[in-house]
Amino acid sequence: MKIAIAGFGALGARLGIMLQAAGHDVTGIDGWPAHIAAINTKGLTVVHDDQDPKVYYLPVMTPQEVTGTFDLIILLTKTPQLDRMLTDIAPIITDQTQLLILSNGLGNIEVMAKHVAKSQIVAGVTLWTSSLVKPGEIHTTGSGSIKLQALAGGDAQPIVEALNEAGLNAELVPDVMTAIWHKAGINAVLNPLSVLLDANIAEFGTAGNAMDMALNILDEMKQVGASQGIKVDVAGIIADLSRLLKPENAGNHYPSMYQDIQNGKRTEIDFLNGYFARLGQQEGIPTPFNALVTRLIHAKEDIVRTK
Ligand code: NAD
Repeated sequence: MKIAIAGFGALGARLGIMLQAAGHDVTGIDGWPAHIAAINTKGLTVVHDDQDPKVYYLPVMTPQEVTGTFDLIILLTKTPQLDRMLTDIAPIITDQTQLLILSNGLGNIEVMAKHVAKSQIVAGVTLWTSSLVKPGEIHTTGSGSIKLQALAGGDAQPIVEALNEAGLNAELVPDVMTAIWHKAGINAVLNPLSVLLDANIAEFGTAGNAMDMALNILDEMKQVGASQGIKVDVAGIIADLSRLLKPENAGNHYPSMYQDIQNGKRTEIDFLNGYFARLGQQEGIPTPFNALVTRLIHAKEDIVRTK
């Protein structure tokens, strides 16, 4: 399959090398000059599970440089960057291109629907992880999985087969939005609270009221989800959080929002808690906790940026 990965950062690069190793024709699309230069001159360095580094070679170029057409474009920008990426790669999207979104957060489908027909959209959620430690180098651990569903009657089976040829543990599910909201619920707790409490996941778990705060966020999310026909399994999210909070599972991991704040980057808050707050306002559902968390994270973004 001819595949482009739009957003060849931490996770895009991990998936890209796996797909290429399975024989797919993979092109990375990214706009970070130092990262592109490093990969195109020295290759992509991958350190997996603290083993010796391995180097992989595959083409990476900017949206302005990429030409031709692709069977599949996997979108892996940060969520606030998605609209711009889709605008920039418009020339390579045809009626036949399928677009699989694996970025976290909610609202991605609405953004995609502004650019392509719903029948071209494949919505997904992934448990694969990766860290970009410097331009041209990612660190990876363990394995993951992908759940996906074609919207509006598209056929995503060939995509599942291509992903599974690469060992990406993909499966078609009938209700991907439920899975996407489930993961968004976990992220809406761990990401902003790690920033606001300056704590990694295990440290957050030592707070006596950690689960009370989680429930404040998730109960509002559940009501907002119900207004959209999405059933949010709060008990299931709490069970997953309880597992993650255990030091032996979460270790010293800081969620991506914590790292984004450290690096002075814009966070995905408007696509997590901010999304629930916005939708709640539209639907007349009070969301004071999510609205406050969103404001506090935006304040933190501003404070870090002016330092
Ligand atoms: P990242 O910041 O490492 O990668 C995004 C890449 O997109 C960057 O290299 C950036 O230069 C590029 N990009 C963004 N907008 C662009 C544009 N308009 N033109 C060209 N290039 C552009 O992010 P990531 O960690 O790979 O995460 C991507 C998404 O996947 C996020 O939504 C994240 O929450 C989700 N996710 C990440 C992980 C993980 O472990 N990294 C796990 C699951 C889900």
